[in-house]
Amino acid sequence: MTQLFQQQQLKVTNSLSGKKEVFVPLKEGYVGMYVCGPTVYSNVHLGNCRTFMSFDMIFRYLKHLGYKVRYVRNITDAGHLENDADDGEDKIAKKAKLEQLEPMEVVQRYTVDFHETLQKFNLLPPSIEPTATGHIIEQIEIIQKIIAQGYAYEKNGSVYFDVIKFNASHDYGKLSGRKLEDMIASTRELTAQEEKKNPQDFALWKKAEPQHIMRWPSPWGDGFPGWHLECTAMSTKYLGEQFDIHGGGMDLKFPHHECEIAQAEACNTTSPVNYWLHANMLTLNGKKMSKSTGNNIYPAEIFSGENTILSKPFSPSVVRFFMMQAHYTSILDLSDSALQASEKGYHKLMEGLKSLDSLDTSNTSDFDVATWKQQCYTAMNDDFNTPVLIAHLFEAVRQINLINDGKATITQEHKQELQDTLSTFVFLVLGLTAPSGENGASETLEGVLRLLIDLRNKARVNKDFVTSDKIRDELIAMGIQLKDSKEGTTFTIN
Ligand SMILES: [Zn+2]
Repeated sequence: MTQLFQQQQLKVTNSLSGKKEVFVPLKEGYVGMYVCGPTVYSNVHLGNCRTFMSFDMIFRYLKHLGYKVRYVRNITDAGHLENDADDGEDKIAKKAKLEQLEPMEVVQRYTVDFHETLQKFNLLPPSIEPTATGHIIEQIEIIQKIIAQGYAYEKNGSVYFDVIKFNASHDYGKLSGRKLEDMIASTRELTAQEEKKNPQDFALWKKAEPQHIMRWPSPWGDGFPGWHLECTAMSTKYLGEQFDIHGGGMDLKFPHHECEIAQAEACNTTSPVNYWLHANMLTLNGKKMSKSTGNNIYPAEIFSGENTILSKPFSPSVVRFFMMQAHYTSILDLSDSALQASEKGYHKLMEGLKSLDSLDTSNTSDFDVATWKQQCYTAMNDDFNTPVLIAHLFEAVRQINLINDGKATITQEHKQELQDTLSTFVFLVLGLTAPSGENGASETLEGVLRLLIDLRNKARVNKDFVTSDKIRDELIAMGIQLKDSKEGTTFTIN
């Protein structure tokens, strides 16, 4: 059986070359893909959601092309320090202290939030989701290998990667386009108490001070791994020393991904990744999102409408459609007007799909479905160009409306092909879902809730607060929140 990937030539933008390259996996028919996952110390950021959604679309398209994809996306539950200079506090340990929780309670809480949010956005789970704390032994083994190769040194119970030594025989900075000489020229001098030989060196293992809770025994004493190391350990373990695609947000290119390359090249003879793919950032009202300036919004606030930035709530499907309307390598700006426009577009697309079902067929066709179908593939083959794909989908909707108005015709065979292709791209590749009623409720559930809200409001008017409170509290217990305002009562389903 021929697979789609044998007919469709996919090109991807490789950050390593800065060019669009024909995608050829190491083993025909199989793709190994690693994407840096979240550090689970706070609710997942909308910008991070965009990155994971981009790679979900890539995962979906590769699978649709017939590849067997092993998609590994990790959970960082230790080792990610507050700054890149290896001397900040562990992000998870800090949060645990602030909230008086065990670090693993923090990890559990935000891993659950991460999964729930991604599920709302209809992301497929990765094939493997390994954690940093579950791979301490593998990380220690890699450090031992790097030391044996002479590219790392131990100092007072910590181990550092020797960037200058590595760069003498390798190219440190090849991914981010940085030159080590420039980095050296622009960095401060080391202070006497610092253990590193050079400021560019990065930690592979850090000695745990007595008050540090997250610690593991190692040949260098109790400590914890450096953040960059976990991705090398887990990608090597599950995808091999060399694999096809490594993805992540643009902000991870340096130092994180550069360090991953250095670590892997220091212990193996090959470069670890053939195609580096980076998703661009999401801005809010034209500015970088930031918690400190308040220019920030969480997914839950978009779904509930409880924020000052948006005029109304938007469903996860609308937000996903909005994200897919931009190419994953472009900066995308979220605003109320942009989401409103996407909502209109999303409904137009869904209505087009709905009216296709009842479309009358005839003996002739005005719509060249085969050419249109290939245009959809050509868009996706061009580095997953979802905005161009969506433009083609709207061209199909225009044709459907013409046929519906009796201004054009379609044969039964073409109608079937159009239906199959549209649902493939809309639901399987873009990962959109058909609209449900208010706030994700089905029409039936929405009707039942409207009835209960009505009964509760009548009870309140009659001052029967026992009944009205009972309805509210039991709905809360089921995860349904009622909200009263001047305009009436609305609900959100968790
Ligand atoms: Zn990573």
